[in-house]
Amino acid sequence: VDRPNALTREAWDFLRPYAAEADAYVFSRREYVWDGLVGDKVWVMPPSIDAFSPKNQELDPPVVDAILAAIGLQPSPGGIAPVYRRGDGSPGRVDRRAELLQEAPLPPDARVVLQVSRWDRLKDPHGLLECFELFFTDPSIHLVLAAPSPAAVADDPEGAVVLSTLARTWRYLSEEKRRRVHLASLPMNDLDENAAMVNALQRRADVIVQKSIAEGFGLTVAEGMWKEKPVVGSRVGGIQDQIVDGESGVLVDDPHDLDAFGQAIHRLIEDPARAARLGNAARRRVIDRFLAVNRLAEYVELVGSLMTPAQTTASRKAPTA
Ligand code: UDP
Repeated sequence: VDRPNALTREAWDFLRPYAAEADAYVFSRREYVWDGLVGDKVWVMPPSIDAFSPKNQELDPPVVDAILAAIGLQPSPGGIAPVYRRGDGSPGRVDRRAELLQEAPLPPDARVVLQVSRWDRLKDPHGLLECFELFFTDPSIHLVLAAPSPAAVADDPEGAVVLSTLARTWRYLSEEKRRRVHLASLPMNDLDENAAMVNALQRRADVIVQKSIAEGFGLTVAEGMWKEKPVVGSRVGGIQDQIVDGESGVLVDDPHDLDAFGQAIHRLIEDPARAARLGNAARRRVIDRFLAVNRLAEYVELVGSLMTPAQTTASRKAPTA
């Protein structure tokens, strides 16, 4: 949590004796370091993304369209195969459809506002839907909320409840609004295929939103930034480490402030040059800080610091080990 309270301190007290044995502790933010740990064992390293994974690899726009057609979100462009490269380098293809709640597929010229997350109250998809209902009158702007199919996430029993609440609100939208809101539950049978779906959605988006009430890191933010998208996120948890407000995205101070989210999203949609500028800077920020290669050097340093001089010498003598 961003601000420790009596409950979190109690949890730290419970866990600390178990952690005491460890030689090093890795935290994703300085603010998350528990009280009472040995200071020089503490390392702060944010999570990172893999640029070459199916989630983040480059996809040509026609392939993006083909993948979104394959899942049922867009009309079929015809002629282009929904293909990507799997994690092991072999060719992959998106064949499964998403479970969609939508009146009609996304029109080709739609301007897309996207949030990808689990169906979880702390991600506040419902708040974003309300924001859309209140402030998005332009008929060309569509909202896509995407998440793993709730049946697939065994450790997230609330997912189905959150989705059914969203679905009820969706049904009560005016017909015109309902036509512009798409709820997509993505199949998780094949994780590479699922990742390619997320990749295509993020690449199709004009603005990516992460309206979390709380957030450990928020990988979806780094994923969107990597794809040169302007991301609007709440100023919570790790999102505020990723986005520099007004430079590489937009931070909204109060995650409950629908008006502020509405304005921030609108400003980006109406000003493509600014959106492109922020998206550009976002990608550079990910390259500088949040790619796996950035962490690699830090982990080498961490592991190196734990090796005794004898081990270090042994490994030098046996470079293939
Ligand atoms: N994600 C996914 N498939 C989906 C929806 C989301 O792989 O259908 C991924 C998303 O791309 C991100 C991760 O799930 O990499 C969510 O991580 P994040 O840190 O944003 O939130 P968490 O779920 O850990 O709270």
